[in-house]
Amino acid sequence: MATISTHFEWQVDSKGYRFERSHKPKGSLLGRREHDAIVRRGGGLQTRHPLEHFDTLYKQFSELDDSVEAYIDFASKFGPLTENGHAPEGDPVEDWRFWVSYMKHLIVVREVDPQKLIYDAPSPTEFGRMRARLVAQGPGGRPALRLIPVSLRDALWLQFAQSTVSGADLRTCDWCGTWFESGGGAGRRAGARFCSEKCRSTFNNRKKSKGVRS
Ligand SMILES: [Zn+2]
Repeated sequence: MATISTHFEWQVDSKGYRFERSHKPKGSLLGRREHDAIVRRGGGLQTRHPLEHFDTLYKQFSELDDSVEAYIDFASKFGPLTENGHAPEGDPVEDWRFWVSYMKHLIVVREVDPQKLIYDAPSPTEFGRMRARLVAQGPGGRPALRLIPVSLRDALWLQFAQSTVSGADLRTCDWCGTWFESGGGAGRRAGARFCSEKCRSTFNNRKKSKGVRS
């Protein structure tokens, strides 16, 4: 079975994002913006790799509260939802709302029965668009296949899908409360209580300093 790697880099406005109301000129059929949107503040674009440092970003995304501020905050860290977010028209607020609630829905369905994701809760086709490339894999080796999500929205879906396939458990760190995955193909062993070695040792040191035996 061939190995398939993934790679996702995404542009983020260095000045962040803001809310802009729709302003369709009266009597015009060609309004500049028909929806309230999250738009760029117009700083330079920085390249980031949102999935590399946040292996449960899809879960964070699903927990955004239903507010424009939450969407702006997420966009300012990880970038806009789609390619539209790089352009002046931005991503419609409605789209943010829809995809957050859809991700939430997928996670709930998965908890009940992962099989249901296939027939009962198929993702809309815009969720999970990928490009595929052949890339070098070490000197002299065969090329490897790489999947490249088209947008942040697709990358979040890919991350969700990978964790579903791996069978990893999703839980929160007993020390810092961050979501992490354990077991399956995840980095932490099954049943792990902490997201990282750092959190595990901090927790244990605190316990010792309080004189509690583990
Ligand atoms: Zn932690």
